[in-house]
Amino acid sequence: MITVREPATETVLTEIPAADRSLLDAAVARARESAPAWRALTPRARARALSDLAAALEQHVEELALLEARNAGKPIADARGEMEMVIDAFRYYSGAPERPLGETIPVAGGQAFTVREPLGVVGLITPWNFPLLIASWKLAPALAAGNAVVLKPAVLTPMTALRFEQLASEAGIPEGVVNVVVGAGSTVGQRLVEHPDVAKIAFTGSTEVGRQIAAAAAPTIKRVTLELGGKSPNIVFADADLQKAAAAAPAAVFGNAGQDCCARSRILVQREAIDEFMQELEQVVRSIRVGDPLDHSTQMGPLISAGQREAVSSFLNGEAPIAIRGSAPEGPGYWFPPTVLAPVDPHARAAREEIFGPIAVVIPFTDEADAIRIANDTIYGLSGSIWTRDGAKALRVAHALECGVLSINSNTSVRVATPFGGFKQSGYGRELGPHALDAYTEVKSIFFATS
Ligand code: NAP
Ligand code: MG
Repeated sequence: MITVREPATETVLTEIPAADRSLLDAAVARARESAPAWRALTPRARARALSDLAAALEQHVEELALLEARNAGKPIADARGEMEMVIDAFRYYSGAPERPLGETIPVAGGQAFTVREPLGVVGLITPWNFPLLIASWKLAPALAAGNAVVLKPAVLTPMTALRFEQLASEAGIPEGVVNVVVGAGSTVGQRLVEHPDVAKIAFTGSTEVGRQIAAAAAPTIKRVTLELGGKSPNIVFADADLQKAAAAAPAAVFGNAGQDCCARSRILVQREAIDEFMQELEQVVRSIRVGDPLDHSTQMGPLISAGQREAVSSFLNGEAPIAIRGSAPEGPGYWFPPTVLAPVDPHARAAREEIFGPIAVVIPFTDEADAIRIANDTIYGLSGSIWTRDGAKALRVAHALECGVLSINSNTSVRVATPFGGFKQSGYGRELGPHALDAYTEVKSIFFATS
């Protein structure tokens, strides 16, 4: 049995039978059987099915938000925002079946053109931090492209995936096209990656598990896309609107209690601005309302588990001074206050490893070149922000940073219409935007002789 808990109270939400390898194999077999008919639907019919599914999700948005808020411990306002983004993903990709795909290419003696074909059965493996949101970024393009899917959500947060499976069926997605299997990554997840009838794995999770998946996919030459960890910089130049930069910095790292792969958890501040920036930052961090996820005014909830709290706490090891500490409720619940370490040496463990919790480090820098050097000195390359009033400098730094997603004078960079993914050990492949379909299709090149 899998015991699903509410991180804010540590109480049991429900118990779910844990799937094993044979249940996973049965789901893959169902997906394999249903894939040809789903693929053979007219583009209009598949588009229609996906927009019906978006409408069904819309009708259940409050229910889904509440489930996610309770199971993941995230503020209800955030959970509702995430469900809106889930619906956006299905609306956006519901147009895909009818959009142009492929190209014509001038060649001698005939006509060459390409078509894009679905892969067949696609395996989706997702983490616990944004459970249904991250799943939707895979589900929507995979289904739009004509694949059947097997989704393995994280055992800590399976609730919205299971509800999604029911809603997809009620909305008219043919049986067997969407399959959710709840079981441990080390058994069921591993089997999904190794399964010979699964054409591709789309994974979001830690860099460590990403490495294992890439290796386990190799024997079957399985296609893999990986969205992994991050240690993203938030670079604040002295000529920035410091008040705005300091007001935005906490949301960029303490959102979702810091359990966000895009967290801008390394705040790089130009030396001459550091005192003013820290004063502003302290005010904002102290005012963050940490508490009951179901209270509409809550801004930060608990961590996902006792294990996560222990892992996060290990970064308060005296290596760097605690400059700011916000508030957090007493137990029960896996609470951890928003915390800022400053100043932090770029070589300190807290400055190098992904913490995945509400701890930010402030690292001083001298000039543009120093900022770029520190920002890029990491195995990761997911996200980042740049704050300055100098447009040319903003663009120079944006081009120099080694990361897949960036924002200038803003801390938001994830939108359904724009590509999302990492450089370096933050993964490969892109989700969202028009190119996501590339990750769920094969290109076939056809030559038609005319002479
Ligand atoms: P995780 O430990 O890597 O687990 C992610 C998923 O993989 C879970 O469903 C897990 O199953 C499964 N899994 C574990 N071992 C596996 C194996 N050997 N084969 C197949 N599947 C396996 O990550 P997490 O702890 O859930 O989430 C935190 C991490 O995710 C952070 O490092 C964060 O940076 C990253 N993340 C990245 C993004 C992004 O878009 N780049 C987004 C969110 C999170 P069970 O846990 O259920 O056993
Ligand atoms: Mg894990």
